[in-house]
Amino acid sequence: MDFNYRCSICSTTYEITPDLTVCPDCSRSQQTDQPLTGILEVELRGTIDRSYSISDLLPIEPAYFPAIPVGNTPLWEPENLRNSSGFRRLYIKDDGSNPTASFKDRASYLVSAAARKFNIEDITLASTGNAGSSMAGVGAAAGQRVTLFLPKTAPAAKLVQALQYGARVFRVNGNYDMAYDLSLAFSKRKGGLNRNTAYNPLTIEGKKTVSLEICQQLNQAPDLLFVSVGDGCILSGVYKGFRDLVQLGVIPSVPHIIGVQAETSDALHRAYISGSFEKLPTSTVADSICVDVPRNGIHALAMLRKFNGEMMTVSDAQIIQAQSYLSSSTGLFTEPASAAAFAGFQKAAPRLDPDALVVVLTTGNGLKDSTSATLGIQVPKTLIDTVDDIL
Ligand SMILES: *Cc1c(COP(=O)(O)O)cnc(C)c1O
Repeated sequence: MDFNYRCSICSTTYEITPDLTVCPDCSRSQQTDQPLTGILEVELRGTIDRSYSISDLLPIEPAYFPAIPVGNTPLWEPENLRNSSGFRRLYIKDDGSNPTASFKDRASYLVSAAARKFNIEDITLASTGNAGSSMAGVGAAAGQRVTLFLPKTAPAAKLVQALQYGARVFRVNGNYDMAYDLSLAFSKRKGGLNRNTAYNPLTIEGKKTVSLEICQQLNQAPDLLFVSVGDGCILSGVYKGFRDLVQLGVIPSVPHIIGVQAETSDALHRAYISGSFEKLPTSTVADSICVDVPRNGIHALAMLRKFNGEMMTVSDAQIIQAQSYLSSSTGLFTEPASAAAFAGFQKAAPRLDPDALVVVLTTGNGLKDSTSATLGIQVPKTLIDTVDDIL
């Protein structure tokens, strides 16, 4: 298999090199407060046989993969949910079971491998929390130096996790969008590899592995997939995996994908309706999908249009309810951003075919943000001394 970059806007092709991020031509028209323009995609050239392995479809050779077991996450068959919802073929792809407990490991893994291949030891990024703790953990396994810019509101567990892995962490006096801009300014001055989501083309490429795994685990493509959306990089990654499999003749067509955002942080959803991106200050309990300017918005929107995908929103109350319902009915405890995908399924279920093969992608472990998780439960207030107190 051969690989190159191709600009998603002007179709110019480029060799895969570490200094290339967005398309040099198209990014000249980049406007402030707008999603990135000129996102580069990895293009595959070649064929595969039946016994292909996922690494055959990745542009960095397995020899460079760090020694940390990313991916191969379980596909749950949630019996209670199947019974209660009537969807007999409902699955949950649990990416919170990745080594640093979020989906982001898929991108970090490929970026880390690329840095190794090109002999780069420094990796910089901005993150709402998960991408940062992920890069810190994967970078630790690879012996790389990770510099992380976090918004001031990042949940404590994600900050602690990144520091535990030995990353250098800067806490930004502002939100994720500000952290993003500062990390780019830092990278421009200090060099090294920047892993910012979508800006580094290997983030989308790494994220595609989830679709490849789902198709291997099901031995077919799903009919429908629910994905929570912030920057829209997971969404594009999920599309990329299915598109590659269509190109290679493994599956007949790209499945129907439903992107789910929080009602109060719904930039891509709004653009899906209006056709343009408008920067509005947003907030939601689902911190990992709290994004004012979805960095991969233009590309994600193009994918949704091309493959007839959908965007929908759920309220914070629905997210909190979905989180505790998922925990108590399946044993899978996910963070709010991750529960948003399930909340989307719950909201959409009445209009869906219950015989459809549905996969809900969960993206982060619930322990990542235990403060938000207390919103959906009753924490006992009184302390007891003897069992007589309760019997
Ligand atoms: C990052 C993240 C998302 C959203 O991914 P985007 O690529 O920003 O759309 C969803 N859930 C969790 C847990 C995340 O960390």
